[in-house]
Amino acid sequence: MPSRELVVLGSASQTPTRRRNHNGYLLRWDDRSVLFDPGEGTQRQLLLADASPTGIRHICITHFHGDHCLGLPGILQRLSLDRVAHPVEVLFPASGAAYFDRLRHASAYQDHLDVRPVPVAADGPASTGGPFAIEAVRLGHDPETFGWRVVEPDGIRMLPDRLAEAGVHGPAVGVLAATGVLDLADRTVRLEDVSAPRKGQRMAFVMDTGMCDAAVDLAAGADLVVCEATFASADHDLARRYRHLTAADAGRVARDAGARRLVITHFSQRYPDVRVLLDEAAAVFPDVVAAEDLARVPVPTRRR
Ligand SMILES: [Zn+2]
Repeated sequence: MPSRELVVLGSASQTPTRRRNHNGYLLRWDDRSVLFDPGEGTQRQLLLADASPTGIRHICITHFHGDHCLGLPGILQRLSLDRVAHPVEVLFPASGAAYFDRLRHASAYQDHLDVRPVPVAADGPASTGGPFAIEAVRLGHDPETFGWRVVEPDGIRMLPDRLAEAGVHGPAVGVLAATGVLDLADRTVRLEDVSAPRKGQRMAFVMDTGMCDAAVDLAAGADLVVCEATFASADHDLARRYRHLTAADAGRVARDAGARRLVITHFSQRYPDVRVLLDEAAAVFPDVVAAEDLARVPVPTRRR
């Protein structure tokens, strides 16, 4: 099982269908997970997807339409029931704080969970201090909507051959990594001589927006971008009226952003077969997957 992957929990906009649950996306990233837009039924979808909820450290809500947040009470209560010991951040648009408060306390339960609300009012880093940052970018939709970006900082990777050549092994490697320089009896070894830069990975979540530069900015350089593709090109006018994207728009966002892999989702129930949406996106951006409930999409392996 890859250590970084997207688990699709739901892929329907507005109303679920027989084959598609409301939205819900679990990003598994090493030993922690980020849950995006838990719609109604997310708790059970996790079970069906064989994905554990206990690794969830962050829950990101783009906006407070029901298909993006009605699963929040169930998830929080479940994490509490499981006695999850770590804090769980919930990131959401500050303008929707009243909705968050209601969902947070939607029904009676014994609350053991350390919930850390993170209301967001402006673009920028919203969660820092962990192995990745989560950044917010305001998108073009009503009510106020923020897209999210998971950003791993750039780092270095050690080069085993160079380390061996330099005679550095065991705990000395850790010292060199921490301090940048190692004084041996007869010489000095510098970190840059035995390592190479390693580009951090990033994932972007572009949900419910009209076409806008912010969507492209959000997805810039993303290894994996999840993007709404509510409509087909034939329904372009509906997309513009309701401030949504067509599948071709989603392809353009990924292409213009220089992203590596695109997952389209948030399909209108008017398309029982999303093949047309996949084809329209693929005509613009070839590495594209149409989300199916319970599917897993690996984050592409790290660029060298
Ligand atoms: Zn929606």
